[in-house]
Amino acid sequence: MNYGIMNSINHGTGTRRADPKLAGTLTDSVLRLIWRENRISRADIAKKIGLSRSTVTEIIKELLLTGLIAEVGDGKSTGGRKPIVLEFQYGARCILGVDVGATHITVLLTDLQGKPLVWRERKHNVVDDPEGTRKIIYEFCDECLSITEHDSTTLLSIGVAVPSPVETGKPDLLSEIVIPAWHGKSDLNLLKDRYNVPVYIDNDANLGALAAFWWGAGKGTNDLVYIKIGHGIGAGYIFRGELYRGGKGLAGEFGHMPIDIYGEECVCGLRGCLTTLVGEHALINRYKVLLGTQPHGYDIDQKINLVDLIDAAMRGELAATRVIQEAADYLGVAISGLSNIINPDKIIIGGSLARVGDLLLKPVQEKVKKTVLVQTEDPVVITMSSLGPDAVVFGAATLALEEAFAKTSFLSNQSHNSEFSSFNPN
Ligand SMILES: [Zn+2]
Repeated sequence: MNYGIMNSINHGTGTRRADPKLAGTLTDSVLRLIWRENRISRADIAKKIGLSRSTVTEIIKELLLTGLIAEVGDGKSTGGRKPIVLEFQYGARCILGVDVGATHITVLLTDLQGKPLVWRERKHNVVDDPEGTRKIIYEFCDECLSITEHDSTTLLSIGVAVPSPVETGKPDLLSEIVIPAWHGKSDLNLLKDRYNVPVYIDNDANLGALAAFWWGAGKGTNDLVYIKIGHGIGAGYIFRGELYRGGKGLAGEFGHMPIDIYGEECVCGLRGCLTTLVGEHALINRYKVLLGTQPHGYDIDQKINLVDLIDAAMRGELAATRVIQEAADYLGVAISGLSNIINPDKIIIGGSLARVGDLLLKPVQEKVKKTVLVQTEDPVVITMSSLGPDAVVFGAATLALEEAFAKTSFLSNQSHNSEFSSFNPN
């Protein structure tokens, strides 16, 4: 990631709020433009948005009070006195991203351009322990806010990734099928009460897609699919530069694409879903079977997890390598089906299994090449995530950032400070 331009920024301290009456489309447009441009003159703002100089002057006067922008005197001079330009103060506020994975919790504090400031991560049995998980989230958020110059007064918003589908307008509901111990409720609305900022919740694969699109292998591509393979399998779609969530917000259940209707029963009630063939449990079970056929056998009491399997495959161990090759075959078939239906420009594979790299990627690429229906000179590009396991937490912070600046009314958020949503369907 390139954060070059951010290194020279002075951290602003202003936290005064603008007159909420001014919070509106024009003010937001101006703020968004300065956020995107970093430095810009009043004249260029007027030209780019199509406003009169006097309207721009009024809006800037209010925005200067927020501490989010500052006047700096080194604009390009055309002779004579150097003109004053406006500079966005990316360090004036901060964002928290929270990744609640099936087996880990990660919290990241960023500035207003996504630059990571503090990071906390811990392995935890999230799936079976909602209470303990919430405690760790609070502990990490408090810690992140306490060890920088930021605190809860400069916190702008929080983005949260959960390992469950998230229905539009019902951000606190979780799938009882996917994580039954949580009884269908995340109670992460408590984050909003604790920090008094808007909280945005979305599915982890959706946020992996958002991170890939903003910062990773999907930069410059407007139509992509991010496939997350770890404990379960999910997918996030970016169509025409926007996250596509489907009619009810539940798009992306790629793991429940049926591959073998006579296969093993899946938690969803279907048979032979991709998850029953390539999900963590399926891979480990297959690995144990293959180990059992080897001369040295397999100790039934031996605990094996996905990390062990990946490590063994990367060492070139025969049984583990075969498991990955078989997984690539199933995955290739599923990706071909997906490509035939939605024809993305790029498919990015992320999640913990992506660590095996070419061992998985090459056979998947081969399989798709052989089986995809639409054969063009410019076929779908399949690649591994460049953000590694951090994609989702970056995506969570990016969601909060995007909602604050790219979509919703930043100043309205600041005035009401009570939003809690799966996302803002503007
Ligand atoms: Zn299923």
